[in-house]
Amino acid sequence: MRKYVLLLLCSLSCFIYAESYVPASVPNPKGAMHNGWICDPAGYLSTSQARQITDACNNIKEFVDVEVAVVMLPGYDRQRYDRFTFCQELFNLWGIGGKQRNTGVLVFFADGQPGSRDIRIHTGGGMEGLLTDYACSSLIDDAYDYLVDGQFGNGVLKIVEGLYSRLMTTDAQAELTLGWAPKHFDEDAFAALLYFLLFLFVAVWLLCYAYYRSHLCKQCGAVAVKQTNMKIISQPTYTTDGKRQLTFTCACCGNTFYKTQIIPHLVRAATTTTGTFRSSGGFSGGSWGGGHSFGGGAGRGF
Ligand SMILES: [Zn+2]
Repeated sequence: MRKYVLLLLCSLSCFIYAESYVPASVPNPKGAMHNGWICDPAGYLSTSQARQITDACNNIKEFVDVEVAVVMLPGYDRQRYDRFTFCQELFNLWGIGGKQRNTGVLVFFADGQPGSRDIRIHTGGGMEGLLTDYACSSLIDDAYDYLVDGQFGNGVLKIVEGLYSRLMTTDAQAELTLGWAPKHFDEDAFAALLYFLLFLFVAVWLLCYAYYRSHLCKQCGAVAVKQTNMKIISQPTYTTDGKRQLTFTCACCGNTFYKTQIIPHLVRAATTTTGTFRSSGGFSGGSWGGGHSFGGGAGRGF
């Protein structure tokens, strides 16, 4: 009988203790004495599960610089806190993840009466791109059978394994440690590329066609026509256009034909106004020919 009373007292004290957790009283696995990832004061995790979780968290920290805290409590003060506010307060109290990039994840489990237990993956601001709410929810889905079955250690391990497989990728590494994400298939960019290639194809085709047309001999069909002469018919003046005649000859059959072209009228050079040089009209100013000195020449001081 005394045994039962003792057991009752013990479980009652456990119950009271379990109900009393607030964020500030949760044992911090990082501190003066420890440097771990797991807070499991009631011992839900087996040694092997704890080791696997620790290994995974170590690797995640090393690979993508993300801190994953795993907290498993027998309960908490559910009068004062709901699951979200408890996680939020604990997350910020501990400061999980880097200060600048906020790449932390809190995996939170709290025991209680069946139906009132809690599981939550709480993410830092820097994780939201990779671990969307939807992604977190599907990680919990994957572990749900274990959790409902009372295998809390296996459930939490399953969640950590899910985090591991999502975070231990080169894409995640690029996004989290370099600050950019490799684009996956981008339909808009692909369409733009297609249009560009189409445009390029048409442009090249037009150029080839223009070349073909201008070198095609109408008499023998060979693409062998070349300009062989140019004669000014009338010089352009400042007021009227000029004309010139181009002679084309086919290198294949000797067929010769002529084309006349307009020479645009002349444009007056810049007018000089008091001290400043201005260009006007089509004259775009002068420039040197583009010579380059290699330091030749001589000089001396005096
Ligand atoms: Zn010809």
